[in-house]
Amino acid sequence: MTETALAGAQPTPEARPARTPRAGRPAAKPHGQWKVDGTTPLNPNEVWKQEDGGLSVRERIETIYAQGGFDSIDSTDLHGRFRWWGLYTQRRQGIDGGKTATLEPHELEDKYFMLRVRIDGGALSTEQLRVIGQISVDFARGTADITDRQNIQLHWIRVEDVPEIWRRLEGVGLHTTEACGDVPRVILGSPVAGIAKDEIIDPTPLIHEIAAKYIGDPAFANLPRKYKTAITGHPSQDVVHEINDVAFVGVEHPELGLGYDLWVGGALSTNPMLGKRLGAFVRPEQGAEVWEGVTSIFRDYGYRRMRTKARLKFLLADWGPEKFRQVLQDEYLGYELADGPAAPKPSTPGDHVGVHEQKDGKFFIGVAPTVGRLAGPTMLALADLLETHGSQRLRTTPHQKLVVLDVPGERVESLTAGLETLGLSAKPSVFRRGTIACTGIEFCKLAIVETKENAATAIAELERRLADLVEDGSLPEALSLHINGCPNSCARIQTADIGLKGMMLPVDGGDPAPGFQVHLGGGLASTTREEAGLGRTVRGLKVYVADLPDYVERVVRRFVADHAEGQ
Ligand code: SF4
Repeated sequence: MTETALAGAQPTPEARPARTPRAGRPAAKPHGQWKVDGTTPLNPNEVWKQEDGGLSVRERIETIYAQGGFDSIDSTDLHGRFRWWGLYTQRRQGIDGGKTATLEPHELEDKYFMLRVRIDGGALSTEQLRVIGQISVDFARGTADITDRQNIQLHWIRVEDVPEIWRRLEGVGLHTTEACGDVPRVILGSPVAGIAKDEIIDPTPLIHEIAAKYIGDPAFANLPRKYKTAITGHPSQDVVHEINDVAFVGVEHPELGLGYDLWVGGALSTNPMLGKRLGAFVRPEQGAEVWEGVTSIFRDYGYRRMRTKARLKFLLADWGPEKFRQVLQDEYLGYELADGPAAPKPSTPGDHVGVHEQKDGKFFIGVAPTVGRLAGPTMLALADLLETHGSQRLRTTPHQKLVVLDVPGERVESLTAGLETLGLSAKPSVFRRGTIACTGIEFCKLAIVETKENAATAIAELERRLADLVEDGSLPEALSLHINGCPNSCARIQTADIGLKGMMLPVDGGDPAPGFQVHLGGGLASTTREEAGLGRTVRGLKVYVADLPDYVERVVRRFVADHAEGQ
């Protein structure tokens, strides 16, 4: 254990003594809240996080593991601390989903890693894109996926290559610090920050300030669980703010001017909860300290005893928004926040697909790689293509899409055609546009079902089968289809029109087969719905992988035939 790591892992205020039970009642089990119960760790994860935090493993990767190879890695580093630097072991190839629950974790894993490149706000230059693309070619067998949190994930990474990958990334201002782990994860930011004509407020300074001040800071490197941030100033509300632990949504206050509406406590997974507004208005210059206050509440009061109850949403559910705001103001900020307005219903789609004029007269183009899948060579070709058309900036989006910025008007047509040849359509079908899929069984150790390939197959099938509805104009303008490979919710299944949760399904007289539990009717605030709502499972409604296109086709045709005007 190092002094500094332990010091960084402790709460700043004095830890308080544990609760004492009332006479005659059995003692309630402590939640493991540092400020209430003291800092004694109550589970093995909390023990190693306090003994030697995740950030410390970088030195060992560079000086020991990169030389010694996979088999030299200490188990707690491998399955714990590596995540603080964006590294997870990937699934061993060829193990079917039926074995996910029965094999030991080490039997499921390969000697390769998934490496998550952190891209706060999704902001990339063509130079950075080229570096990631070359890393993909040189070290990741050409793999690269845009995640639905604006990161780029590479696979097949060997620990021997990690120091060189870091050297290349950091040489262009990118990094993998706290890309995973119980830390402040990547900051979702509006993909059109600073350029959109209809932007309310540019969130770029706030994103930069939070990232610069707090990412990699030991004071926030041991949180109870992962911690997600989203910031937007665009009226489309394009950062899925309702399902983040803390979110800032751009609004105009009638007296105080431009700023943010503060949300806390959203998260999905197996116990989904939507975030809540605190009713507080955050001035731009208050944003970073408010973020620090909310994050400190999570660190100091978050439930650390059981990891399944450790997300901020559980604390908010117990406290409620009023108490949360009071604690934030009284114990962390030392001043009252002004009451503030809610943002109105989104005015435009938040995926930014298509060609749009910027505030400076140039254009941005949103394109849809199929379920976020890129490849190293595609990224290299894309960087060249953009530069030859006068653009040096692009953004990843929380919808597994890309937005190309700063395109001169006279180059839009040629660039759009070039993007199309790379599989990046600015006019995707409603299915290609609305489908996202998690990593799934190809690389994820928790997966039960293949996702990306199944999604791509379903998209192509639906485009073919439903061409008649495209032709007669009756297809819905938007349809979200989100596909998860297991009961976790990396692809946000509860917030889709059709959400599919991977599971093994029984087969009459045979072995179980991969399929999905269906969730219907979810969605976040959008042009077609006032506020977010979680989709519902329909009793007994499950679909085998092979039947997926049939099922979606049936749902769409029935909707087209039966839906009410304006639905
Ligand atoms: Fe893996 Fe499950 Fe997350 Fe998909 S939803 S990436 S299968 S943990």
